[in-house]
Amino acid sequence: MGPHWAFYNVSIYRKFTGEPMQKAAVKATHMSGPIRIAFPDGSMREFPSGVTGLEIAESISASLAKAAVALDVDGTLTDLTRPLTQDCAIKIVRRDDEAALELIRHDAAHVMAEAVQQLYPGTQVTIGPSIENGFYYDFARETPFSSEDLEKIEQRMHEIVDRGETFTCEVWDRKEAIAFFEEKGEVYKAELITDLPESETITVYRQGEWLDLCRGPHLPTTKHVGHAFKLMNVAGAYWRGDSSRAMLTRIYGTAWRNEKELQAYLTMLEEAEKRDHRKLGREMDLYHFQEEAQGSCFWHPKGYTIYLALEAYIRRRLRDAGYVEVKTPQLIDNKLWVASGHWGKFRENMFVVPDEVPNTEDEGPVISGEANLMALKPMNCPAHIQIFNQGIKSYRDLPIRMAEFGCCHRNEAHGALHGLMRVRQMTQDDAHIFCREDQITQEVKAFVELFYACYRDFGFEEIQIKLATRPEVRAGSDEVWDRAEKAMADALEVLGLPFEYAPGDGAFYGPKYEFHLKDAIGRSWQCGTCQLDFVLPERLGATYIGEDGAKHRPVMIHRAILGTLERFIGLFIENCAGKLPLWLASVQCVVATITSDADGYARQVHDALRAAGIRAELDLRNEKINYKVREHSVQKVPAMFVVGKREAEERTVAIRRLGEQAQNVVGLDKAIGDLALECQPPY
Ligand SMILES: [Zn+2]
Ligand SMILES: [Zn+2]
Repeated sequence: MGPHWAFYNVSIYRKFTGEPMQKAAVKATHMSGPIRIAFPDGSMREFPSGVTGLEIAESISASLAKAAVALDVDGTLTDLTRPLTQDCAIKIVRRDDEAALELIRHDAAHVMAEAVQQLYPGTQVTIGPSIENGFYYDFARETPFSSEDLEKIEQRMHEIVDRGETFTCEVWDRKEAIAFFEEKGEVYKAELITDLPESETITVYRQGEWLDLCRGPHLPTTKHVGHAFKLMNVAGAYWRGDSSRAMLTRIYGTAWRNEKELQAYLTMLEEAEKRDHRKLGREMDLYHFQEEAQGSCFWHPKGYTIYLALEAYIRRRLRDAGYVEVKTPQLIDNKLWVASGHWGKFRENMFVVPDEVPNTEDEGPVISGEANLMALKPMNCPAHIQIFNQGIKSYRDLPIRMAEFGCCHRNEAHGALHGLMRVRQMTQDDAHIFCREDQITQEVKAFVELFYACYRDFGFEEIQIKLATRPEVRAGSDEVWDRAEKAMADALEVLGLPFEYAPGDGAFYGPKYEFHLKDAIGRSWQCGTCQLDFVLPERLGATYIGEDGAKHRPVMIHRAILGTLERFIGLFIENCAGKLPLWLASVQCVVATITSDADGYARQVHDALRAAGIRAELDLRNEKINYKVREHSVQKVPAMFVVGKREAEERTVAIRRLGEQAQNVVGLDKAIGDLALECQPPY
C-alpha cells in the first residue's frame, strides 16, 4: 500500500527549507476528483481527493478536530495530515481512544531518543518501537546507560513534550538518506535503510530540530504525548537480536493516556512483584530451577503436592467427560516427525539425539555415521494418532477422546525462559478428540462447558473467548473451513457465550478458540486451547470406516484446559498471591504448640488430621507461638490449630486462619470435620 505522495521525488535538501511539505502535497492532490469516505456509523460522504483526516474532523466539529490524533484508514492507523486519495472507510482516533495508546508510546520513544541525543552527544539511535504497556529504544553508546541516567532523561523528555513540536513526515530519497545518516555517524540507521526493500518508501519524522527514520504514524505534536510516562529500566540488547553483533543499551519506558492510568499500571506492577511466583515459590519451598537444567523444574515435595492435586482434579474431570487416558513415548524417531511435518516446521525447537548403537564389548555405545535421529517429543499429537491407528475404527467408535498428561520438551532460548511461565520441559493436560465432521459442534461445545466449569472452580469468572479463523496460508479447502468455522461459532451460540472473531488468527491446519482470562490484578492470560485440525490425520494416515463402508478422515481436535501445568501453577500462585485454596495447599493445616506440656495432645491432633485425609504438619519447636504463626504465614499455610495446656484439657483447638487475627476455639472433632470438608476438591 502506501500513498503516492506528490513530494515523493523532492530532493533531500528541500527538507531544510522549513516549509512543512505535507501541505504542499495536499494542495497538489486536491486537484483530482472526489473520493468516497465511509464513517463508522455507516454513513458515506464525498470529499475532494487529497483531503486529510484533520480536514474531515474539522468538517464535523471543531471539538473533534481538537481531540483527534490520528486516522484509522481501512484498519490501519495513519497520520492525521496524510492526504487521502482513494475511497476508504475511516475512523477518527481521539487521544482518549484505546487506539491512541500505541501512538503515545511510539512517540514517547522518539521523544526519549531526542532527549538522549541532546544529553549524551555521540550516542547513536537504532530502533524504538512501542510495546505492550510502553516502549523502548535501543542506543549505541560506549558506556551503557545506568538507572541513574533515567531521571535526567525523563526530565528532558518532559521539556520536549512541553515544547509541543509538530511531528512532520518527510519522504526521502534512499541514497541521500543513507548518505545523510552516514555523515551524521548514525551507522545503524544507514544499515536499516540499506536493508529496506527497494519498494519501500523512506520516510523520516521530524520534531523540531530532531528527526528519525520511521514508518510512522505519529501524533500531531510532541505535546500530545502528555506527561503520563515513566522510564522503567535499562537492559542490554543485541543489534537486531543477533548475539554476534554489537551489544546495545536499551531503555524501557511505560506511557499512558493519563496520570490515573499510569498510576494504576505502576501499582499493578508493584502488586505483581509481590506476587511473583518465583519469589513465592522460594518462600513457600515449592520448587527451584538451576543452571544445569535450564527451563526444567525441580519440584520440591510441597510444590509437587500442588502439582499432583491439580493433575488428580483434571483427571477426575476428564474421566467423567468420557476421556480415556494414555501414555506415549518421550523419544520418537525422526521419521515420525518428518511425516507429521514437525521436522520441517519445528525442527529448531526440538531436542534431537542420535539413536546410538550399543556395542557388545563394554566400551560404551558407538554412534554410527548413519545413526537414526530421535527427538524428544515437543507435542503429543502424532503419538496419539499412532494409538488411534491401531486396529480398524468405525464411525460408531467416534468420538474417541484421548488424554495424556504428556511431558514435552521444547528448545526455548535461555533468555526467553521465565520461572514456571516459560519452560523447556512442560506437562500439558493434553487431549485429542477424534471425531466425525458432524460431531464437531457437539464436541467443541462439551469442551467449552468443561473449560468454563474448571476455571470457575479456580475462581476465574472473567473469560473472554475468541474464534480465530482461517489465515492466509492454510491447508484444506474453503468449504471445509466454512463448515468448521460455522460449527465452532454454532457451539458458542448454543451455549449463549458472547465471543469475538479473531480473523486470520487460526492455525494453518484449522480454526481455534482462544481463551483469555483476567487474573486478580487485572492481567490477561491466554490459557488452554481448542483447535480443529484437518491436516495431521491426513499426514499420518488416520481413517475410520463410515456408515457408507468407505474410509474417511477423522477430524482431530487438540484441546487443553489448563494448558501447561507448570505455567498454570505459576499464574495461579500469582493470582491468589500464594494463598491457595485449601484443596490445593500443600500443607493444609499445621498443629502448633504454645508450650511443650501440650506436645502429647498436639501429636494426637496431628494423627487425627492425617487420619481424616488432611495434609497436616506438626510444629513442636520450642519457639514463641507468634514466631510460629509468622513463619507459617510466610509459607501461606491456610489453617493452624494452636494448642496449649487448656486446649489439651478441654480437647479443643484454637483455629487461626491465614491472614486473620482472630482465633476461634472449637472442639477437636468438629474442627477436624469442618476442615476435612473444606479440603475437599471442588470436583
Ligand atoms: Zn518511529
Ligand atoms: Zn495436539
